[in-house]
Amino acid sequence: MTTTVQPTADAAPAGLAQTAPTLRLRPALVNGQRIHVECASWCTEDHIAENARHLEDVCHSSVAVDLMSPRDNGPAKLLAYARVISGDSGSMEDRPQVTVDFDDIHGMYLQVQDVEELADNLIAFAQRIRSLGRVIAVTA
Ligand SMILES: [Zn+2]
Repeated sequence: MTTTVQPTADAAPAGLAQTAPTLRLRPALVNGQRIHVECASWCTEDHIAENARHLEDVCHSSVAVDLMSPRDNGPAKLLAYARVISGDSGSMEDRPQVTVDFDDIHGMYLQVQDVEELADNLIAFAQRIRSLGRVIAVTA
C-alpha cells in the first residue's frame, strides 16, 4: 500500500526532513519470524505487513509524492508518483535512491482550466522530486 501526499507548498513531504536521517530498529516479519531491522527515519514501510521471504528482500520506502491530473468527468487521475527507496541486500543498489513511476498514459484531453491545474501540479511535483533528492543527498 502506498501512502500519498498531494502537492501543496514547497516544504518537504511529511516525514522527509532534509537532515541526515537517523536509524532506528523497527519490527519486521521475515519468512514469518519477527525480527528487528535497521530503518531510516524517512521509511514508512510496514515491515510486519511486508513479510519478506528473506532478510535481503526487506525494502525501505518513504511516503509517495503524487502527480495528479484533473479530469472533466471524474476524479483526478494519478499520472506518476515518486518516493525514496533502499534495500537490505548488501549491494550498491541498496543505497537510498529516488524512484519515479509513471502510469501508462497515451494521451490526455484537457480543458483550459484543467491545463492550468495540471501545470500547477507539474510544478509542485518537480519541487517534491527535488525534495526527495535532497533527502538522499544528506543520506549519502
Ligand atoms: Zn524501513
